[in-house]
Amino acid sequence: MPDVLSAPLVVEFPFTRSLGPVQSAFLTGLRERVVLGVRTTDDRTLVPPVEYDPVTAEEIRDLVEVTPTGTVTTWAWNHAPRRGQPLTTPFAWVLVRLDGADTALLHALDAPGPDAVRTGMRVRVRWAEERTGAITDIACFEPYDGEAGEPGATGKSVPAGGHSGVFGDPITGIVAPARLDYTYSPGRAQSAYIEALSARRTVGERCPSCRKVYVPPRGACPTCGVATAEQVEVGPRGTVTTFCIVNIKAKNLDIEVPYVYAHIALDGADLALHARIGGIPYDQVRMGLRVAPVWTEGARYPDHYRPTGEPDAAYETYKELL
Ligand SMILES: [Zn+2]
Repeated sequence: MPDVLSAPLVVEFPFTRSLGPVQSAFLTGLRERVVLGVRTTDDRTLVPPVEYDPVTAEEIRDLVEVTPTGTVTTWAWNHAPRRGQPLTTPFAWVLVRLDGADTALLHALDAPGPDAVRTGMRVRVRWAEERTGAITDIACFEPYDGEAGEPGATGKSVPAGGHSGVFGDPITGIVAPARLDYTYSPGRAQSAYIEALSARRTVGERCPSCRKVYVPPRGACPTCGVATAEQVEVGPRGTVTTFCIVNIKAKNLDIEVPYVYAHIALDGADLALHARIGGIPYDQVRMGLRVAPVWTEGARYPDHYRPTGEPDAAYETYKELL
């Protein structure tokens, strides 16, 4: 059995969201070093604020300022901060109930070590020097043994639903970068497929039941549900079964548009793989076109497929693969 491959993989995209009136007020307030909560009809103050009462589902809009000091209600030590977390040195994740609030806010506490953190300890907000209207405007919390701060320290009162008049341009949307760092393992079957590709061979696996050959192999037959193991070399030539013309230039991809992306059934395979077609004007690519891989130096995959010059394959020979 070949070794199972693995490699680091990063999935990353910016997530743009609009805020709505309450989150807008909260983040706009942070920019001005003011923490806003929202008051429910039974006089609880929720920080961070929400738009609907979590108990009654009632819409709530009554913004109220709370103080930047509070009490740790629970915590966990973070030994190894990761990229994008609030602090680069080890810190405590804490839930802090700010003075005047009835709920707790999750954030980081800058402390020298876990021995310096306890439930019930007093903390205060450390503001970021540059604030943009984001939760990171609170750089972190820090231990604090002084008196409770005074709400309204800025000298501004907050009219319900009218924060924009107090704080200037409201923050109406944020871009939250989402990033997932993980180790991807393609599993036994695809590892063997990738290993073979490094020798410019394309190897699929045959189902012991229906005898179909899957390329790339998935380790099991999607029709019969049984494990596949018998390796079968296919190609290198194949037939275009279907295709699309790509008109959008992808970021970081040095390919002139328009170009053709096709499903290609390699000879001997019962599953079409997909690849770019080159060496032919995009508007002359057609179903049944016979193609062969073009490798570039050092690449692990064919760069693209080009026409072989053979007569087109008859529709009957690939119609089951569409
Ligand atoms: Zn099968």
